[in-house]
Amino acid sequence: MDQPLASASDIPSLDKLVRQPALAALVVRYGRTQVIDALRLHLDSLRHAAVSGALPRAAMDEDAIASALAGRLEDRARRRMRPVFNLTGVVVHTNLGRALLPDEALEVVAEALKWPVNLELELATGRRGDRDSLVESLLCELTGAEAATVVNNNAAAVLLMLSSLAARREVIVSRGELVEIGGSFRLPDIMRQAGVRLCEVGTTNRTHPGDYLEAIGPRTALLLKVHTSNYTICGFTASVGVSGLKKIGRERGLPVAVDLGSGSLLDLSRWGLPREPTVRETLAAGADLVTFSGDKLLGGPQAGIVVGQADLVRRLKANPLKRALRVGKLVLAALEPVLALYRAPESLAERLSTMRLLTRQAADMKLQAFRLLPVLQQALGNAYQVREEPMASEIGSGALPTQQLASHGLTVSVARGGRGSLDRLQAALRSLPRPVLGRLAAKKLWLDLRCLDPSEEQCFAAQWEALRPPDGTLGTDRA
Ligand SMILES: *Cc1c(COP(=O)(O)O)cnc(C)c1O
Repeated sequence: MDQPLASASDIPSLDKLVRQPALAALVVRYGRTQVIDALRLHLDSLRHAAVSGALPRAAMDEDAIASALAGRLEDRARRRMRPVFNLTGVVVHTNLGRALLPDEALEVVAEALKWPVNLELELATGRRGDRDSLVESLLCELTGAEAATVVNNNAAAVLLMLSSLAARREVIVSRGELVEIGGSFRLPDIMRQAGVRLCEVGTTNRTHPGDYLEAIGPRTALLLKVHTSNYTICGFTASVGVSGLKKIGRERGLPVAVDLGSGSLLDLSRWGLPREPTVRETLAAGADLVTFSGDKLLGGPQAGIVVGQADLVRRLKANPLKRALRVGKLVLAALEPVLALYRAPESLAERLSTMRLLTRQAADMKLQAFRLLPVLQQALGNAYQVREEPMASEIGSGALPTQQLASHGLTVSVARGGRGSLDRLQAALRSLPRPVLGRLAAKKLWLDLRCLDPSEEQCFAAQWEALRPPDGTLGTDRA
């Protein structure tokens, strides 16, 4: 049956509408400016619909207008950045904000937000201070370095290092280490931005000490080693280690820098995790400077950290770029308590959130999977088949790309003859109050439970229960 249509002249005036009680309530909630803005937009859309002959008379109703307006305003007020459930199996997930901060750090950040802090003030002397000094001695203690500086992220750390030590000169890098990190960090591009000439040596799979020695000339400023964090080259390979580079650097009077990427502060194998070179080892092997991220394996806030020889760090601090790349008080507030946790490695696996997730045992997730399986199966109805299955998580952010951690979780597939679709299911999960993100592979949606903190399990389950449609059609084609 056709609905009766309205024309543009039937649309009530804005002035008349704002005086309606239904709108008055919206004015109290959102303020007059927003309500009038939204109302104007809504009336425009009604006029467009009227012109194309698609405006049902019912849309003219004041209650209908108020309710459409409420929807618009609510939509606009919804926060864009929201917590999600990361069930992708990638623990340090760049698109989901990388490391999660421990409660200790949250309290310090909240304080730094609310009160003035001694960001650049030496309390002992009352003189102006250097913000780096808030974490510098802790970084030196944990890595054995002489000095440290902190910038916005590791890309900035590499940029600052190159620009400070090698502008208008050459930096030698092995062809096997010219990395691209997701999100457009490409070493050759950073070099160009830093005003440094890149001198590539060796081949993709093999680089020898002789390759570096041959390339060194009067314009060479630095030998750079980049930790190939998001890929491995295996088979017939050769590369020059940090101590090998140091030997060359010492002979030719050149500093050696290492971009370590995820920058572990402790040997992770003590927790049964795969080994990554630590910052301390890299310095001990002869690196003069090491750069790494604060929010990868270290488990802190987004930051780029440079540690190493005092005279080199001093040159970085003196570069005007440092001012442009410096971190704010929130980052330093979060970084200090995270670093302090490393003073007690025995309790790191409980107290550092990232480490707690990385060290969870598959048996733990398996119990969770058994508890949650009936909840999900109920919510999804017979269009889908939910199973508990072993799976493999990754550390993420390029750390140890080929190493996987035994995990457990739930998989969802479309039931035989069911009306489900994994694309629609994923879309439905993304539209939950707290969106749920999994991984699609082999015609299943994989929900790895490693990153579902047991304290969040109730909230996770409740969300599915609330969502259970009477006909079991979540993520199915209702038409
Ligand atoms: C991750 C990474 C970077 C970039 O670090 P951000 O903190 O994301 O800027 C640079 N180099 C290596 C080797 C990395 O692994």
